[in-house]
Amino acid sequence: MTRESLPGRRRCWVDVTENLDLGTLDAGATPGFRGEEASAREQTEVLRSQLVALQARLYAESRQRLLVVLQAMDTGGKDGVIRKVFSGVNPQGVRVARFERPSVSELARDYLWRVHGQVPAAGEIAIFNRSHYEDVLVVRVNSLVPRAQWKRRYRHIRGFERMLVDEGTTVVKIFLHIDRDEQARRLQARLDDPDRHWKFDPHDIEQRRHWDAYMAAFREAILQTHRPQAPWFIIPANHKWYRDWAVMNILVRTVARMNPQFPAATIDPASVRID
Ligand code: ATP
Ligand code: MG
Repeated sequence: MTRESLPGRRRCWVDVTENLDLGTLDAGATPGFRGEEASAREQTEVLRSQLVALQARLYAESRQRLLVVLQAMDTGGKDGVIRKVFSGVNPQGVRVARFERPSVSELARDYLWRVHGQVPAAGEIAIFNRSHYEDVLVVRVNSLVPRAQWKRRYRHIRGFERMLVDEGTTVVKIFLHIDRDEQARRLQARLDDPDRHWKFDPHDIEQRRHWDAYMAAFREAILQTHRPQAPWFIIPANHKWYRDWAVMNILVRTVARMNPQFPAATIDPASVRID
């Protein structure tokens, strides 16, 4: 792949700084992109073919691993990103892990137990649809464990991710940021369309009442665990076309930087006779 064909160097996310204020951050912004929606969609397709080519190498190389953590408020677009960004990629090398309410057996163990079992193997991309971050988000907002207990978890999470990176896993964490009005529109759309009723969860309405508490929890989780080796990318996600373009951009950059290579032949092809 030539240098020219790699995605631009422009930042297509919101930088994580102490001033981060998710309550006022513009979820309709399109950092790093200027132009029409149609052109974003075209670029996304070009990026997709790059991701497909890079992932083929990653899988063949079977040495490096990529973990993509996806977090968002309900209706924030995690499912859409997984469907759109990873379509076309060889399913053999990609695995999605969903983290729902912990089962009795999961609750009987520490909160990282179920997570560690889902990390990517050599050559694999694992996508976490929700993750260990729920243990400092939904758990914090709903007081599912005492404050002193979830407070300690930032330290565990930093250590856990540090260990994964030290042992050869690349870690990127993506927060899809929608605003409260956009969530209202998306929930209403689920109510209005019979084919989407199955996606409507009354629990979302309840959690929505705690919007500000969630924003504070996301802010602290991001600030506490944003590290050069395991960075957070905050993507304004009200516009789905921008969201897909930005996530695709980040993934192509990330895998390009991993620079996976097809393994060298272990035989001299000219010396092999197939009869
Ligand atoms: P969709 O957006 O399509 O509805 P979803 O990610 O909300 O998908 P669901 O199965 O509806 O998936 O919900 C999963 C639920 O599990 C979320 O409400 C989430 O907060 C909750 N959950 C995940 N991890 C934990 C955890 N560790 N403790 C408590 N609740 C959790
Ligand atoms: Mg849900």
